[in-house]
Amino acid sequence: MTVAIKDAKGVGETLHKRFLMAGIRTTYDLLITPPKSYERYEIVDVSALSDGEKLTLRAVVLTPPESIRTTRISRVAFDVLSAGLTLIVLVFNRDYLKELLHPGDHIIIKGHYRAANSTIIATTIQVADTVSPIQPVYGFEGIHDKIVAKIIRSVYEQRQVEIYETLPKEDLATYRLPSREQALMMLHFPSCEHDLTEARRRFKYEEAFFLNLAMARQNPRIFRPPKAYDLAVVKSAISALAFELTNDQKNATNALFRDFKKPYAQFRLIQGDVGSGKTIVAGLAALAVASAGEQVAIMAPTELLAKQHHEVLSTMFKDMAVALLSSRTKDKKSVKEAIANHAIDVVIGTHALIEKDVVFHKLGLVIIDEQHRFGVRARSELGDKAMAQDVIYLTATPIPRTLAMVVFKDANISVIKEKPQARPEIMTHYVTSAMLDHVFTDMEERLRQGDNVFIVVPAIDSLEKGENIQTVSALVNQRLHADVLTLHSRMPAEDRDLAMATFRERHGVIMIATTMIEVGIDVAHATMMLVFSAEQFGLSQLHQLRGRVGRGERQSVCYLVSGNDDSERLRILEQTNDGFALSAKDLEFRGPGQFLGERQSGYFKFRFLDFSQDTAILEEASKRVGRLLMDPLFEGSSRQKHLWKRLEKMVGSADPYAI
Ligand code: ADP
Ligand code: MG
Repeated sequence: MTVAIKDAKGVGETLHKRFLMAGIRTTYDLLITPPKSYERYEIVDVSALSDGEKLTLRAVVLTPPESIRTTRISRVAFDVLSAGLTLIVLVFNRDYLKELLHPGDHIIIKGHYRAANSTIIATTIQVADTVSPIQPVYGFEGIHDKIVAKIIRSVYEQRQVEIYETLPKEDLATYRLPSREQALMMLHFPSCEHDLTEARRRFKYEEAFFLNLAMARQNPRIFRPPKAYDLAVVKSAISALAFELTNDQKNATNALFRDFKKPYAQFRLIQGDVGSGKTIVAGLAALAVASAGEQVAIMAPTELLAKQHHEVLSTMFKDMAVALLSSRTKDKKSVKEAIANHAIDVVIGTHALIEKDVVFHKLGLVIIDEQHRFGVRARSELGDKAMAQDVIYLTATPIPRTLAMVVFKDANISVIKEKPQARPEIMTHYVTSAMLDHVFTDMEERLRQGDNVFIVVPAIDSLEKGENIQTVSALVNQRLHADVLTLHSRMPAEDRDLAMATFRERHGVIMIATTMIEVGIDVAHATMMLVFSAEQFGLSQLHQLRGRVGRGERQSVCYLVSGNDDSERLRILEQTNDGFALSAKDLEFRGPGQFLGERQSGYFKFRFLDFSQDTAILEEASKRVGRLLMDPLFEGSSRQKHLWKRLEKMVGSADPYAI
């Protein structure tokens, strides 16, 4: 049962409108909106205060308030005792306090401290028994916090709202969590800090629980026979390689092969910086699966990368039939036929590969390259065809541990840290637009020496935020005379190819592009990158972008231009080259959205859970959900129905808390 907010006691026309403006339509909406922050009326140690400091303290009135009328302004003064110290309280235009306050009364004073004469110039004085030491701040436009609290109290007392428990009872007992109703009341009417901590712990757990549940449900365990791959084929392929695998590559490969032997479909995330050699690991997995008589689909984020993989894999592994299938493949029909009758073992393409009318004879493995482009573990996004298959994700954007734990299990992650060839570090500088003179001087010099330059912008035109291709092209033309190319997703494919080919062949050329260049473009004589409106990008993304330079002998440089006050974040890139450290920072600065992918982050608003702090809670919830789903009694139970129903509501709702 829930009641329209206008039917709550104390809500008239005006308040009703203001509540609606704040998105509060019902009593339930109001109850589930936690205070934005709290004001604390705590005892402060006055001896530790410095002159002029703002303070709030509890005190006992020592002397009756007296008027001091020296000027036209009336003042009331009296002594109080607080934390063992006697202080003078001075307050303006508050004559009524003389009637109100008596020695021995407990009061709360807000004001400024004057050290010289141990005086507090008070702005507010309240009688203590009417005030909790922690006051919620709701911040609804035009509604006083006290009124909000009063309405909440009355709604609750009049039973004009019903708050259901959403977590299993055992979880409340095991982790000693307050019920949903209790926790909400603790947020609205905290009596001490402990109330807040406990209430938050409950909601953090709730968020972690449902996130884990959603992830687990999206990726159910699918039984399939172990893959009967031919180890001899793989071994001879490894010995035929032009190089020795690094230890990390060996470990990742072994982990994949162990996965294949298990009786149910596996997913594995292979994390490794750009250039760490993930492709070969994926190639060996593909070869093994092909040797087991199954087909493999490899999905790359761009046509260019798909083409590159096709070249590498078809030259490296002569034993398997590899095909490229993209929107630009000439004879699509015959390639599709070959896939359908299993004349082809491995097919490489873009996202379209999975969505379209491509029918496999026996698809046994899907490999997704640069997985961060597609969102984490988006198995269902691959379409039904891939549902029953093993999936390997390759990513150069490491997923922070806390998140990886939720979306992958720890055991399903392989990390490639060792790099086969050490690359020279790229110098990275954060600059403001006032420093562009220097940047353009450097650019001119590099262009003169025959080096190429990437300029990256967040937008194609002014419809989006930040600098765009047009504004920056104008700026560049104004600053220097150079050969300028552009590259973005709205250009026809042929024009893009031409731009890339030109950039690769010519020297002394600038390319102004969107993040299209993030993956797979490899031009050794590109030694400079300039990113405009850098505040629009995540740190991991900027790290990926700068990986496009520094591929040759010469010292490469990356300038991050931002007029924004984002220097603290951007300077991290000046200091570290560690993809893992950067992704952890991203999580801190930007939250989990970019790691979870749109679908998942869209329906999860994390109001309480902090992914960079709440590792233990996430871990616990992950284990708990694992146990729950393994419980043979869970399948088909009313609990399962209840939880699934709730998840579905969360998916369909703009605000998951409002259900
Ligand atoms: P990424 O992890 O960025 O996808 P790639 O798989 O494209 O990296 O590998 C980068 C380059 O390193 C490729 O040219 C590849 O042939 C080479 N490479 C991969 N593994 C090794 C190795 N063990 N020894 C030497 N070179 C290697
Ligand atoms: Mg790669």
